[in-house]
Amino acid sequence: MPELPEVETVVRGLRSQIVGETIDRVEILHPTLIVQGDRKAFLDRLLERTIHDVTRRAKFLCFHLSPRGYLLGHLRMTGKFVVTETELSLDKHQRVRFRFQSGRWMVFSDVRCFGTLEVLDTLEESPALANLGLEPLSSKFTPDSLRNPFQRTSRNIKSMLLDQRVVVGIGNIYASEILYRIGVHPERPAQQIRSKERKQLVATTKFVLQEAIAMNGTSISDFRRVDDKTGEFQDFLRVYGKDGSPCPTCGTPIQRIVQQQRSSFFCPACQQ
Ligand SMILES: [Zn+2]
Repeated sequence: MPELPEVETVVRGLRSQIVGETIDRVEILHPTLIVQGDRKAFLDRLLERTIHDVTRRAKFLCFHLSPRGYLLGHLRMTGKFVVTETELSLDKHQRVRFRFQSGRWMVFSDVRCFGTLEVLDTLEESPALANLGLEPLSSKFTPDSLRNPFQRTSRNIKSMLLDQRVVVGIGNIYASEILYRIGVHPERPAQQIRSKERKQLVATTKFVLQEAIAMNGTSISDFRRVDDKTGEFQDFLRVYGKDGSPCPTCGTPIQRIVQQQRSSFFCPACQQ
């Protein structure tokens, strides 16, 4: 599932390719991914609008339209956007196709069909955006910002890192990588995270996410950039998906456990 670096990679790719494009045709090939409003309202609010920016909030992609409105997208498990110079031949995973006045196309494909697209007049009207936590790469994400959330919970550190109301965009891959790098066991209660570890956690989170963005994200299974190339951060993972392999630091076999139905990977010797 794409996490913050993968969504940011898609957003940057789209921004470099489609800002200034005006939508002149929209083909809805699979209506269930359109949330709120009917198909006609969706089309009416997109046709002849110009895309003047593409940004990210948490794992949402936000297309800023001119003269007004927003297209809000979420990739969920397997959604992807591809921009092409000419019309792509149809395949069964294409869900919505946008043709621009320039003759170029943007196609939203989604194998599993959990992705969503929604047209909004203002971002405030989206319930999905209302209760999101801090952006980890923003200046507001500080060791202090985690003090109360960690103190007031009986949950473990892994589940706090994955909680989008606390901090957004971190999923299984980056949570495992961040906790490994700071030597904290994924089952440690968040309450027991010391102040020095909170500082390391924040600094390492920013560092790992920025490194992953610089490498165009992690392509484990489906993730592709808008030019359909893969990311490269999978070559730099230290623990994620590596159960049974030796820890890069101490050689102990990496372990996999399941927390909240999701895999965590860690070194039982290096992480306490
Ligand atoms: Zn180790």
